[in-house]
Order: sequence, then structure tokens, then C-alpha cells
Amino acid sequence: MKITALETLCLSRMHEPERQWITSRYRTIKADCAVVLVHTDAGITGIGEASAYGWLTKIQGWVEWLAPTLVGKDPLDPAIAPRPTGRNRPIDTAIAGIDCALWDLRGKAAGKRVSELLAPTPADRVRLYASGGCRYDWRYNPEQLIEEALGYIEQGYTAMKFRIGTEWAFDGVTVDRFLGLVRELAQAVDGRMDLALDGNCRLTEEEALPIALEIERLGFAWFEEPIDRNNIAGNARLCEAVEMPITGGEAFSSLDEFRPYIEQKAYDVLQPDAGLSGITETVRIAEMAAHYGLPVYPHSWHNGLMCMAHAQLVAAIPNIAIVELCQHQGPLQWGILAEKPQIVDGHLILPDSPGLGVELAENVAERFPHVEGHYGITVER
Ligand SMILES: [Mg+2]
Repeated sequence: MKITALETLCLSRMHEPERQWITSRYRTIKADCAVVLVHTDAGITGIGEASAYGWLTKIQGWVEWLAPTLVGKDPLDPAIAPRPTGRNRPIDTAIAGIDCALWDLRGKAAGKRVSELLAPTPADRVRLYASGGCRYDWRYNPEQLIEEALGYIEQGYTAMKFRIGTEWAFDGVTVDRFLGLVRELAQAVDGRMDLALDGNCRLTEEEALPIALEIERLGFAWFEEPIDRNNIAGNARLCEAVEMPITGGEAFSSLDEFRPYIEQKAYDVLQPDAGLSGITETVRIAEMAAHYGLPVYPHSWHNGLMCMAHAQLVAAIPNIAIVELCQHQGPLQWGILAEKPQIVDGHLILPDSPGLGVELAENVAERFPHVEGHYGITVER
């Protein structure tokens, strides 16, 4: 079998005004999706999703650039896959999309799920967490966060992650005011679902420490990227201060970038994203994490195809624990796929189909035409 061509689909969907979500200083106006297709002379096509993050056409450009290095090669040879550069987006997202598509292709060629290529007896279902908390506005109805959480419990989710809300400086939000809402949330949830907090690197160490201590007391499952990710020593001090895991790494594409965080104990859990690092590199990161006794909770903030890549990893690799499912992506998320996999009691059932287990829907490019421009607009108040 030989690779004949590479292709990138740039897909978008504008959010209805009521579905736009806001966090920090930006409002998100659309959902994007970058799908890389690897075509072969055997009539099998592999598909993989790259983390779009506003770089759709740049990802497409990098895939075109890399295509001549792959066309004519045997897709079953793992050595052909380009490795992430560690220089990050958008080149590494393009490489990740290609890598995920090659895994899908290998699975389809072997008649096996990707998880079966990775492990002899992978799981059939994997735990999801509802990743949201990006709609509550400190000026208007911050309690929306609690309504949202109760909705996830009703849908059967067993875990939820939320963010710290709109820019605190807009509305004079303090650590105390924030923790007041967090306590209300924890009380409303009442142990029916695990809770995790994502600081999105927005807090100072002085703000993050009391928050870490309080959410640990409230039984939170983890505290993600509380402070500037470049402050390795500060992250290590937070890890030291609490038993609850301090997590991070969603912006890193290569194992090498994780090294100081592993060696200096700056993260208790690693969070690579297969849409940025590819499945191959995510497995390498997980193997090194296992060597150091660390779990991996992959970062997965996009569409259903990427969710499936992470589901295959979680099903196969013991220390990769849970799949993040973005709750704000709208109909694009699963609309790109011919069939949405079953989600039962907050778990995703892996379809009994080879590769990543899913196919693209018909006419996706017509149904979700590319909308130029960034997905977020800056809000000033
Ligand atoms: Mg995050």
C-alpha cells in the first residue's frame, strides 16, 4: 500500500448568539475543525483531527508542505510519521493530524481498533468528563455555573471541569468571591460528580495557593494550570503544598518539553493533546509518565474525531485515565461524523469499527464551510 495524497478539510460553524461562550477577555463566535485525510492506492483513507485553535489554513499549509515527504511511502511503516518539532503550533498540529490519520489507516488496514493496535485487551468503554464552565459571567448570573453542573449530572456525567470565569478585573472578583461560588457549586453537586478546576494559567501563585488548599478540602479531583506554565518552580511549590494533583501540559507537543515538569515535580498529572502531539508522541509521553508513576489526563478541546483518538488511547494505556469532552463546541462537534458513538452514564462506548472507529459524514465541507478568521474576539469592558 502506498500513500497517494494528503488533504486537509477546514470546517467551521458560527455559534448562535446564545451559544457563544466567554471566558477571560474573549468571546468565542464559532467552532472550527481541521481534519487531515491520508489517501492510499488501496482505496483506504485515514482520518485524523488536528487541534485547530485558529490555525485552520496554516495547518492546511503545513500538511501541503509535508505531503511530498509522505506520498509514495508505505503508511504501515511507523517510521514514516513526522515527529513533533516541539516548536508547537501550527506545524505540530499538522504533524499530529497526519499521525492520527496514519493510526486510523493502520487500524483500518488491519481490521482493528487503534486501541487494539496499542494493547492486547483494551477496554470497550472509557470515562468522559464534561469540560465546560466557560459560560458564566461574573457580571451577569455567575450562578449559571451551578445550573450547568447540575445539567451534567442529569446527563449522567461523573466528572466536570470548569474555568475561573470572565476577567476578574472587569468586576472586582477576588479569591474570596471566587471561592464563595466554588463552595456553592460543591454544595449543589453534593458528591454526585467529581469536580476539577482549570486556572488557564491566569492566577498568580498568591491567588492559586489558597484556591488549591480550599478545593482540596472540598475534594476536587485536580487543579489544572493554576499559574503561568513557564513558572516551573511555582508549579512545583503548588504540587508540594497539596495532595490533590496539580496538572498541565496541554500546550506541549513533544516529550522533551515535559522533561523539566516531570523531573522538577511541577505537575502531578500530564495533559498532552493528541491533536497537538499526535498519538505516537502521546504514547511516548505516557510511557515516560508511567516510569515516573504519573497519570495522564489528555487535553481534548475540539471535535468528535479527536475525542475518538483520545478514547482509543484511554482504552489501551493503563495510566491514560479519562477523556475530556468539550461542552461548548455545538453541532460541529459530532456533526462531522457519519455516526455519533454512544455515550452512556458519562462513558463513551468504543464503536466496534476499525481505526479510530468512526467515519466522516457525507458532504462535511458543504455542510460546515470554512469561516475565515479567529474563533474568538476580544472583549473590552
Ligand atoms: Mg486546560
